[in-house]
Amino acid sequence: MSLKIYNTLTRQKEPFVPIKEQEVLMYSCGPTVYNYIHIGNARTFVMADIIRRYLEYSGYKVKFVMNITDIDDKIINEAKDKDLDFSDVTQLYTEGFFEDIAKLGMRMPDAVPRVTEHLDEIINLVQTLILKGYAYESEGSVYYDVGKFAGYGKLSGKNIDDLMSGARVEVNEKKKSPLDFVLWKAVKPGEPSWESLWGNGRPGWHIECSAMCMNHLADQIDIHCGGSDLVFPHHENEIAQSEAATGKLFSKYWIHCGFLNIDNEKMSKSLGNFWLARDVLKKFRPEAVRIFFLQKHYASPLSYSEDNLRDAENAHKRLEMIFNKVQQALDLKETLGGSVGTVAINPDVEQFSKDLDRLEKEFHEAMDDDFNTAAAMGKIFEIFNGLSKITSPKLLNDFSLYVLKRTRDLILEWNEFLGFLNLSKPENVSKKYEKIVDLLLDIRMDLRKRKEWTLSDKIRDGLNEIGIAIEDSPDGTKWKLK
Ligand SMILES: [Zn+2]
Repeated sequence: MSLKIYNTLTRQKEPFVPIKEQEVLMYSCGPTVYNYIHIGNARTFVMADIIRRYLEYSGYKVKFVMNITDIDDKIINEAKDKDLDFSDVTQLYTEGFFEDIAKLGMRMPDAVPRVTEHLDEIINLVQTLILKGYAYESEGSVYYDVGKFAGYGKLSGKNIDDLMSGARVEVNEKKKSPLDFVLWKAVKPGEPSWESLWGNGRPGWHIECSAMCMNHLADQIDIHCGGSDLVFPHHENEIAQSEAATGKLFSKYWIHCGFLNIDNEKMSKSLGNFWLARDVLKKFRPEAVRIFFLQKHYASPLSYSEDNLRDAENAHKRLEMIFNKVQQALDLKETLGGSVGTVAINPDVEQFSKDLDRLEKEFHEAMDDDFNTAAAMGKIFEIFNGLSKITSPKLLNDFSLYVLKRTRDLILEWNEFLGFLNLSKPENVSKKYEKIVDLLLDIRMDLRKRKEWTLSDKIRDGLNEIGIAIEDSPDGTKWKLK
């Protein structure tokens, strides 16, 4: 089975066929940096990361871009409240965002463009829209003329007449129609602004994503993703801007991640019912948070509660315990070397090996079915249940070790994009580190016996340079960190 994706634009699951064979251009709306991200935002970002990495695992070359909105009303208000410059606010929370996504096990996108670094591209795009008749200037601001774009509403399924009848008629003589949205905002006193053809001002929210996406990827991309609250108006407006400017389909697939709910209400900063990702990560391990996300399909709503996270943490601990046993069995084999014996093939191992073939296939089918991580995790739990029965040292023979190794390698591959196990434990690293230093000292001892002083001193000085002091004594050589 090949990959299918639910496309918000066509409202159906479709086979995934990128514009260029084996290459994927992917864009995700990023954070507005006026606060740290909450755990609901984290869900959307982690899912985008998993999709990107699963596509890579499936053999695509992916270019992934996520923007940072570093100028916005909320940022200006936060700066006023705290009596700071707006750039102090954005720097603090941009760094916070990078810390949070790293802790969540996300890989950095290929580019993370910021709005304030793309004013030229944004202004050019606004100018193009004016020249093509899709936008108009009014008292130093520029608006998009929604009525001019025939495809308006195609993503969200809304139509202009319904929108018009439901629109609040604002006392704003600057706009021709209440549906028109701002591309460029004329400067207000005391607010940051940039020079433009229409006087000083700053970009509207929607235009920045169109401009940065086109600048860092292309006029046409394969996948655009974001939270489902962005479908309207943000993504609808991105389509209107980009397609009016280029005359081409903007994004072939639109993927939207469901809300994280608390007591059946969407978690949001404006409702005040949110938990910051960094606070959740103080209580729960990142792998547990990922398992909590993975256990639901990305488009479904997910209920946040500490109980649910605790369940995910327990699941994570169990997976890790079983995985460690598998690893120990394989390490034992390495220690013993060669054949480990002629224990008869155990029926449990034989059964597991057969189940594994089926579960591996079902795992891939689940991931290919619109990244159904909920079903995929179900297969992983089934595999671990089976594994827990066959790791006993009594069962070790060549066949069981072959099965364990194959399973271990599969789990490691899948963990690369799902991230349910932490495999870079500091203890393991430090043990390896100690072994490497011991090995170097061993070599140095041999060199000294052969009176190769230059080389042996080279090792001593080199270790000294990276903070490791060596002490030679009649009992041998000891080392310590300086
Ligand atoms: Zn956006």
